[in-house]
Amino acid sequence: MRGLMQDSPLTIDTIFRHAEQHYGDVPIVTNGPKGVTRSTYGEWADRTRRLGGVLDTLGISADGRVGTFGWNSQRHLELYFAAPCTGRVLHTLNIRLFPEQLTYIANHAEDEVVFVDRSVFPLFWPLVDTMTTVRHVVVMEDGGDAELPDDPRISDYETLLAAASPVEFDVRDENLAASMCYTSGTTGNPKGVVYSHRSTVLHTMAALSPNAFGLSVRDVAMPVVPMFHANAWGIAQAAPAAGAALVFPGPMMQPEALANLIVDEGVTFTAGVPTIWQGVLPHLAGKKHQLREIGCGGSAVPKALSEAYREQVGLPILQAWGMTETSPVASSGVLPQRLQDADDETKANARARAGVPLFGVEARIVDADTLEPQAWDDTATGELQVRGNWCAKEYYNPDAGVELTTADGWMKTGDVAAMSPDGSIRIADRTKDLIKSGGEWISSVDLENAIMSHPKVAEAAVVGVPHPKWDERPLACVVLKQGETATEEEILEHLKPLVAKWWLPDAVEFIDEVPKTSVGKFSKKDLRAKFAEYELKS
Ligand code: ADP
Repeated sequence: MRGLMQDSPLTIDTIFRHAEQHYGDVPIVTNGPKGVTRSTYGEWADRTRRLGGVLDTLGISADGRVGTFGWNSQRHLELYFAAPCTGRVLHTLNIRLFPEQLTYIANHAEDEVVFVDRSVFPLFWPLVDTMTTVRHVVVMEDGGDAELPDDPRISDYETLLAAASPVEFDVRDENLAASMCYTSGTTGNPKGVVYSHRSTVLHTMAALSPNAFGLSVRDVAMPVVPMFHANAWGIAQAAPAAGAALVFPGPMMQPEALANLIVDEGVTFTAGVPTIWQGVLPHLAGKKHQLREIGCGGSAVPKALSEAYREQVGLPILQAWGMTETSPVASSGVLPQRLQDADDETKANARARAGVPLFGVEARIVDADTLEPQAWDDTATGELQVRGNWCAKEYYNPDAGVELTTADGWMKTGDVAAMSPDGSIRIADRTKDLIKSGGEWISSVDLENAIMSHPKVAEAAVVGVPHPKWDERPLACVVLKQGETATEEEILEHLKPLVAKWWLPDAVEFIDEVPKTSVGKFSKKDLRAKFAEYELKS
């Protein structure tokens, strides 16, 4: 017997039309050097339809790649919809990548046009001649004052929009590519992930659900996670789908500006990587705000950071786990009912986990070589593997040399994790960041967490350095809070009751700053390179 229900394609234009029809008066705010610009979903919808017309006028192919090179803004949101809703493919370029990587990515994706924020135009323009398929560069005024050369390839966003006619959006095939994103390359070369309309709509529904971000018409959502990175964690689709007001930081990414925007605009939901919240904390501490949730992921969320937010801002941080390859949200650490009345320590420990997979994603831990399942006892670790309708099957550049899917159909994450009996995930490390000491593994993430619970420590990153006897031993790279001093002994004493004796770092180096990747994560690759020749004392 067959079900007798309607069956229509899951396409992004359905999200667009829903927002257009029902949330026309809901505000969209974008920050800039001259203050905020205010608009509404109604205006956004009209402009997005006309942007579809602009893509036609520019002669972008039916499934042409539409590159973007910009901050989080309303215009970026217009592109997020105009490209896929006209059958084209949105390709967000990470403005902080190295020039060679940008060239590689734009050429590999075959971008035909790139929409560039004026403030970052000087980063982009020197590369344009290396991008062989780029025919048009459309400049978006974001308050930046970069000089624009006189070049026929350059046009102005608002001028094009003013001259364009609105178009109808009607995508019929839910499996068409909607957007693409190259992983930022914390490890190795960027790899292209291609999202379909279907995967995006399903991910949107999951991101909306209360076990994830729980966005609704009651919310004012501010994605701090860049729209050029991992889909802005789905917020750019989830907020319009839910009718949540949107606040975009634009180029104003300084911690103080972010904190002020949260307070001034009554932001209720925001999300970004841990280093962002580390910076924002002193500016938000003690201020009156409307926040109900701060989402965080992309790298381990230190327990000390979440607790500092609970104490100083009044709400702890919600940890989520995911990857560019998983659209990206795959699990989240919303506390279950049974823990609501638990003591602070128990709750803090629960929040330090990546949480339970969202409905729609399955997870397992296995021996990476034999695929032998590991016990869900929170002790055994293995490679975390996932499957679900918003997990990638393969990369757009298989020549990147990485096999994404196992023979039995699960996506390899390259993360090492333990799972508790109820399947809550605890990320131990990235495979590449684990420290191999005498044949045993030490989790750099656990050590960093323990070090960052020291009151004088602002940031800590632990990497393995070569050791003649043990193969590798941990080196702790510690950034102290401003004005603080500490000794190696002090840090090690603090760690003694917190970690196994053989995990204690062999040395502590005090550094000014942990090097960061293009999306603000700790760059262990750079640290390892910096300390490659490090001589341990014993
Ligand atoms: P990359 O950092 O490789 O450029 P992504 O931004 O897609 O690419 O990052 C995905 C990776 O980020 C995951 O594989 C994992 O290592 C890390 N990550 C994401 N969320 C968490 C989390 N909550 N805890 C620890 N690590 C996380």
